Amino acid sequence: MSFFPVCRPRRLRKTQAVRNQVAETVLRTEDLMYPVFVVHGENIKKEINGMPGQYHYSLDRLPELINEIEKAGILSIMLFGIPAKKDRYASENYTDNGIVQKAIRLIKTLSPALVIATDVCLCAYTEDGHCGITHNGQIDNDQTLDILQKTAVSHAQSGADIVAPSGMMDGMIQAMRQGLDQNDFSDVMIMSYAVKYASAFYGPFRGACGSEPTGDRKSYQMDYRNKKEARKEARMDQEEGADFLMVKPALSYLDIIQDVVEHSTLPVAAYHVSGEYAMIKAAAGNGWVDEKAIVIESLTSIKRAGAKIILTYYALDVAQWLAET
Ligand SMILES: [Zn+2]
Repeated sequence: MSFFPVCRPRRLRKTQAVRNQVAETVLRTEDLMYPVFVVHGENIKKEINGMPGQYHYSLDRLPELINEIEKAGILSIMLFGIPAKKDRYASENYTDNGIVQKAIRLIKTLSPALVIATDVCLCAYTEDGHCGITHNGQIDNDQTLDILQKTAVSHAQSGADIVAPSGMMDGMIQAMRQGLDQNDFSDVMIMSYAVKYASAFYGPFRGACGSEPTGDRKSYQMDYRNKKEARKEARMDQEEGADFLMVKPALSYLDIIQDVVEHSTLPVAAYHVSGEYAMIKAAAGNGWVDEKAIVIESLTSIKRAGAKIILTYYALDVAQWLAET
C-alpha cells in the first residue's frame, strides 16, 4: 500500500471517461423488474394513491403498458392482482378465471419473451388482509401452504415463468415446488421473498392492493432488529428449492442484501418498495431533491450491495434515463 504523495486516488476520478471505465458497479435496464397491478373492469388506468405515476390497469388497457415495458427494454415484471371479491380462503387466487391468470395469458400473447413473475400471496384476496388463512385470530401456517401450492400451479397453468410467494409462511417453497413438480411444471421458477421484514415502508402498497391487515404482520414477517435470522430464512428457502431469493425492503436493508448474497449461491433480488418510492416522489415533487440523480444512486447502491435483480416502481423511468446517457 502506497501513501500520499505517491498515491493520489483523485487521479482515477479526474474525468467522466476515466470514472466510467473504472466504475465497479453499473446499473443496467436489464437489472430491473417492474411491478404491475391488474384489476377487473374496463377502461381502467387509475393512479394508485401514494404512488404517483403508478396505475391499476384493467386488461383492455394493459397492452399499452406492456408495449411501453417492451420498448424500454425491461426484461421482467412482477404481477399483482386485485380480485373482484375477497373471502376467507382467498379463492380468486387460484381460480382459472382470476385476474392474474387472465393477465398472464393476455401478456403471453402480447409479449411472449417478457418474463412474468407472479406474486402468489393471499393478502389481496383474504377478507382480513392477512397473508395466511386465520383461525381465531391466528395464522394457520400449514393450511395456507395448500393454498399457496394451488395458486402456484394455477399461475403456472396460465403461463407464469416465475411464481413468487411473499407471505413468509414456513415451508412455502417446499409446498410450491412439490405442487409444481407433480403437475409437470418443474421448469417454472420460484422467486422466494425469503427475507421480508415487517416494515413501515410498505404503506402505499397496501392501499394499492387493498390489503391493509387487521392487526399487523409481525407474527410472520421478520423483525428488523434481526440479521442472523435472514441467513436462516435464506438457507431454508434455498434448500427447499427456491431459484431466487429476495430481500425486502431494500435501502434500509443493504447490509442484509450483502449478507444473503455472501451466504447463498442463488441470485438475490431486492425490492425497492412503495414507501421508498413515495418518499423520493414527495421530496422531488417539492423540489428538495434531484429525482433522477437520487433514484440512480439509490438503485446503484442496491446493486453494489449484491442484488442481481431490483424490483422498482421506477423501472420505466430508469430505463429511459439510462437510454439518454
Ligand atoms: Zn401478503
